[in-house]
Amino acid sequence: MTESLRPLIAGNWKMNGSRATTRDLLTALRASLRDSGPAPCDIVVCPPAPHLALAAMETEAVSGIQLGGQDCHTATSGAHTGDVSAAMLVDLGCAYVIVGHSERRADHGEDSATVKAKGQAAIAAGLTAIVCVGETLGERDAGRAVDVVGAQVEASLPGGANAGNTVIAYEPVWAIGTGRTPTGAEIGEIHACVRARLLGRLEDGDRVPILYGGSVKPENAAAILSVPDVNGALVGGASLDAGDFWSICQSCP
Ligand code: PEP
Repeated sequence: MTESLRPLIAGNWKMNGSRATTRDLLTALRASLRDSGPAPCDIVVCPPAPHLALAAMETEAVSGIQLGGQDCHTATSGAHTGDVSAAMLVDLGCAYVIVGHSERRADHGEDSATVKAKGQAAIAAGLTAIVCVGETLGERDAGRAVDVVGAQVEASLPGGANAGNTVIAYEPVWAIGTGRTPTGAEIGEIHACVRARLLGRLEDGDRVPILYGGSVKPENAAAILSVPDVNGALVGGASLDAGDFWSICQSCP
């Protein structure tokens, strides 16, 4: 049903790097695109907020690399010390923003209502929201993964979501940064459940990309990206190595 969706590979750099490594990573990615591109996928990189301006300069006029923020506030502006608004991300040249990453849900107590509001703020500003969902190991072991993720999708989906402004990223919490991944069948089961929820909620739910995230590496990327209803990947650790990230991009079907 979603065979024709162009894959999307998004790199989440998290709180890593410096101006120098930002420049080096993007220089290497530009060289890969120049030497062996065009990539078989859309590529998004999400540097830490302080490095976005530099990343925008480094990717200016480069077709094939888009920028994303790692979070945004629900409000458009105001007294929110340390936060970043969706409009600021747009102003910096971002096209995407990650909302509801499990590290934000855990470290900052963000629940699905907050994630939904952030997604709505992102969409209102003109960004595409990458909405993250995923079960904990305890929830998976209790046989509740499908129910937990389904409920998160229902509660986190921004009002006004459609295939042009929303991406869902399924990221099992226990697979993030651990080197462990679900089996292809387990990923397929969750992605099918997310697809069913999207079809139930949105007219173009068949065209909303669903990414898998959690320990995606060059070694497992091709297998994961070939699972039905996996339309790309959200990549953490491996996106900090330009060669590994490019190799994952090249693994898209
Ligand atoms: C992430 O945090 O979004 C992620 C997928 O991390 P990693 O690839 O390192 O597991």
